[in-house]
Amino acid sequence: MIKKIIIGVGVIILVGTGWVYFSKGGEKKIKISENSGVKDKTEEIATISAEVQSNAEDNLTAGVTKEATVEGEVMESVGKGSTTIVENKNAQSEFEKEEEKEAEPDFKINDRLASWGYEKASGRKIDTIILHSTYNATGGDEFDLDKIIGIYKSYGVAPHYIVARDAKVYRTVEDKNIAYHAGESKMPDGRTGVNNFSIGIEIINSKTSGPTSAQYNSLKKLLSYIKGNHSIKYTLGHSDIAPGRKDDPWKFEWGKVK
Ligand SMILES: [Zn+2]
Repeated sequence: MIKKIIIGVGVIILVGTGWVYFSKGGEKKIKISENSGVKDKTEEIATISAEVQSNAEDNLTAGVTKEATVEGEVMESVGKGSTTIVENKNAQSEFEKEEEKEAEPDFKINDRLASWGYEKASGRKIDTIILHSTYNATGGDEFDLDKIIGIYKSYGVAPHYIVARDAKVYRTVEDKNIAYHAGESKMPDGRTGVNNFSIGIEIINSKTSGPTSAQYNSLKKLLSYIKGNHSIKYTLGHSDIAPGRKDDPWKFEWGKVK
């Protein structure tokens, strides 16, 4: 009799436990389905934000950035211009108008972007400007911009900017990209691979004829433009980072740009 009672109680306990177990399981199931609902919503939001992001990226490539504008203009001048590029150009010129209010009104950068002499990069930290001198030693006008650019092309090198003999400023490589201008060199702080963190500027002048006062004037404006966009710690000559190998900028008076 006692045995039967014990068995009976045992059965009740087992059944009871089973009920509790299953009812908990039920709750869990409900919770899971709620969670998966949340998950669906989260995914939906993620998808939307991804779309917003990609739209933002599209806007960026549509010419909100200076870089995109530059490329648009160059591409157009090469004859590949499409409707999209024209739209980009419009977006860019609006942007540039805003910029000009802050920049020196008589300072203009002319784009002649090179297809050689650099590697694409993004997010590099620029803290150095290297000044160079350059001239055409192949005959004819030693200050001929086209010939000088042709020489760069033949060597597969390029600066970011050129201050031409007529004091016009040309951009050949965008700041964000790594231009091949410094070669084997070493900073006063011991760093090598100077191209990676620097901007290179070539001034068109010879070993016997230093920069003109108009060139110094343009260079000063270019330096302040660059310093407005990057935290520049060093402005050095090529000869400072490659002594013995390089002696440019030639006949350069540092006092005129400092
Ligand atoms: Zn140099």
